[in-house]
Amino acid sequence: MKLHRLAAAAAAAVMLTGCGGEQQTSQYTMFAMDTCVTLSGCCDRQTLENAGKEITRLEKLWSVNIKGSDIYRLDHEGSAKLSDETAELLRYSLSISERTDGALDPTVFPLLKEWGFTTDEHHVPDSERISELLKNTGWQRLKLDGNRASLPEGMAVDTGAVAKGYAADIIAEKLRADGVSAGIIDLGGNVLTFGEKPDGSSWKISVRDPFGKGTAGTLSLGECSVVTSGSYERCFEQDGIRYHHIIDPATGRPADSGLESVTVIADESRLCDALSTALFVMGEDKAFDFWRESRDFEMIMITSDKRLLISEGIADKFEQSRKGTSYTAEVISR
Ligand code: AMP
Ligand code: MG
Repeated sequence: MKLHRLAAAAAAAVMLTGCGGEQQTSQYTMFAMDTCVTLSGCCDRQTLENAGKEITRLEKLWSVNIKGSDIYRLDHEGSAKLSDETAELLRYSLSISERTDGALDPTVFPLLKEWGFTTDEHHVPDSERISELLKNTGWQRLKLDGNRASLPEGMAVDTGAVAKGYAADIIAEKLRADGVSAGIIDLGGNVLTFGEKPDGSSWKISVRDPFGKGTAGTLSLGECSVVTSGSYERCFEQDGIRYHHIIDPATGRPADSGLESVTVIADESRLCDALSTALFVMGEDKAFDFWRESRDFEMIMITSDKRLLISEGIADKFEQSRKGTSYTAEVISR
C-alpha cells in the first residue's frame, strides 16, 4: 500500500533546478505523515532538514496512531488540552465542514477504522454496523473551547484530510522565515511552491492520471498550492468492487460520486487539501455549484467516465497530456 502512495507522490513531482549565482539548490526526502515528503529549495540541505524536523513534530501532534499525540489523547480520553497548532487545525477543519455543509467531516474516523483504512485490514461492513457507527459522527458535536477540545463518548476525529496541507503552509512560512527565496514542498503529491522559480519560468505541476501510471496533464503556475484527492490512493477490492478511503459522511461508505480525482488549486495548501476531499464527496454538480459561489480556488476533476473538467479560471494554465488515457476535456464556466 505504501508503495502505491509513493507512486502517487512521484507522479506529482515538481523539479527545482539551478538556483542561479552562488545559491545552492538542495533537496531532502523523508517519510512522514504516512507519505513520501520531498523538500526542495534555494538553500543548503540543513535548512531543509530542519524543516523536515518540523513536519515530524507536527505529525507527533496530529497522528491518530502516535500515543500521546494531541489527537490520540482527544480520541482516547474524550477531552484534551491541545497545542495551539492542533487547536487551529481543528478550528480550520470545522470551518470547512461548515462551509461544505459537512462534506468534510473529521469525525468520520470510526467508519474509516471499521472499513479497515487505518490498518490496511480491509472489509466491507454490513448496513447495520454502518448505521450504528454513523450515530457516532457529526462535526457539530466536536467542541472547541480555546485550546480545550471534547467529543461525546464513542466519537473520534482524524485530521487526515487537512493535516498535510496545513503542514505545508506552516513549512513554507518557516522556510521563508529562514531566508529561502524559492522552493517546493511536496507531501505525497500535495504540492506547494513558493517564491519565483530561479530561471523565471512557471512552476510545472503535473496532475496524475487516475487510470494510468503517467500524468493527465500539467499546470504552469506562479506561487501556488495544488492538492489532489483520488480514489486510487488507498483502496481495496472485494467481489469486483473497488472501495476507497474518502468517506461520504452522509452514508458512511466510500463516496460514490462518479469521480476518480479532484485537484484543487489555491493560494493556501490547507484550503486545497480540505476542499479536494470535500469536493470529491460532493460530486461533479454540487462541487461546480460550490465553485461558482466561491472565489478562492480553481479545480480539475476527472470523472469515472473519463471526462476531465476544468474550471475556467485555470483552463489556460493546464495542458492536457498527449500520452496515456484519452479524456474528453471540458472547461466549466461560472
Ligand atoms: P485526502 O487524501 O486529503 O482526500 O484525505 C483523505 C483522508 O481523510 C482519509 O484517509 C481519512 O483519513 C480522511 N477522510 C476520509 N473521508 C473524509 C471526510 N469526508 N471528511 C474528512 N476526512 C475524511
Ligand atoms: Mg484532503
